[in-house]
Amino acid sequence: RVAMMADKALDTGAPKGPRIVAVGSGKGGVGKSTLAANLAVALARAGRRVGLVDADIHGPSQARLLGTEGRRATAHEGKLVPVESRWGVPALSMAHFSQTGQAIAWRGPKISGALLQLVDAHWDGAEVLVVDLPPGTGDVQLTMLQRCPPAGAVIVSTPQDLALLDAARAVELFAQSKVPVIGLVENMAGYVCPHCGERSDPFGAGGAEAAARDMGLPFLGRIPLDIAIRREGDAGTPTAAGDGPQAAAFAELARQVGR
Ligand code: ADP
Repeated sequence: RVAMMADKALDTGAPKGPRIVAVGSGKGGVGKSTLAANLAVALARAGRRVGLVDADIHGPSQARLLGTEGRRATAHEGKLVPVESRWGVPALSMAHFSQTGQAIAWRGPKISGALLQLVDAHWDGAEVLVVDLPPGTGDVQLTMLQRCPPAGAVIVSTPQDLALLDAARAVELFAQSKVPVIGLVENMAGYVCPHCGERSDPFGAGGAEAAARDMGLPFLGRIPLDIAIRREGDAGTPTAAGDGPQAAAFAELARQVGR
């Protein structure tokens, strides 16, 4: 087991390296981690060299989503070495340092130090680093903005009013820090019943697109609520790596983000 190293990155200023694309949301449970994983896999499929940082220090989920649970990150010459996944996306997550399910009870400075080490790792050759942020606007976001500002941010929301209000707050945080918001993605948009084929909208419809328009931001598309996305996420076989209908939706998202 590799212990996190001392706050070396804190002394050396902002880490340099790949173009950082942050994936954020105003609140949890909207599918941000699922989208970040699938975006990274879709970018890799499109031939981009991409890495993934799970910046959700307290609630890491990328090891599960990418099927690297139980694997441990190593270190080389004072920097972390990402864990390879089967999908052409090396990743670093706190789950690669702790037992699965083990609680991480850290406060601000330690969290910031951890984030900087995950970002300033051996991402050799990566052009894009997708960073899955924790929900909201806390320590990790502030450290990210101050120490390794993203080249752009993707904001994930459900079509629901409440989620959208929170998303607007996340947008505001990036705007204040002059980080360009690449656009808004609507997740869990529409559900087609696998039994009768009827379409319903558990979280409303079109909300994120309207909100994007109101905020003058690009709308990057909608990903439906699809049991396959949940099942494949839990199994560590990201939907974007397959050839089902939603893989095409993630490929389109990657095309917009990768431009
Ligand atoms: P967040 O990172 O915003 O907290 P997660 O990515 O962990 O959200 O997703 C929350 C739950 O919703 C997970 O069980 C995930 O599998 C599921 N989920 C996310 N997006 C979809 C979708 N489009 N269709 C079906 N299930 C989804």
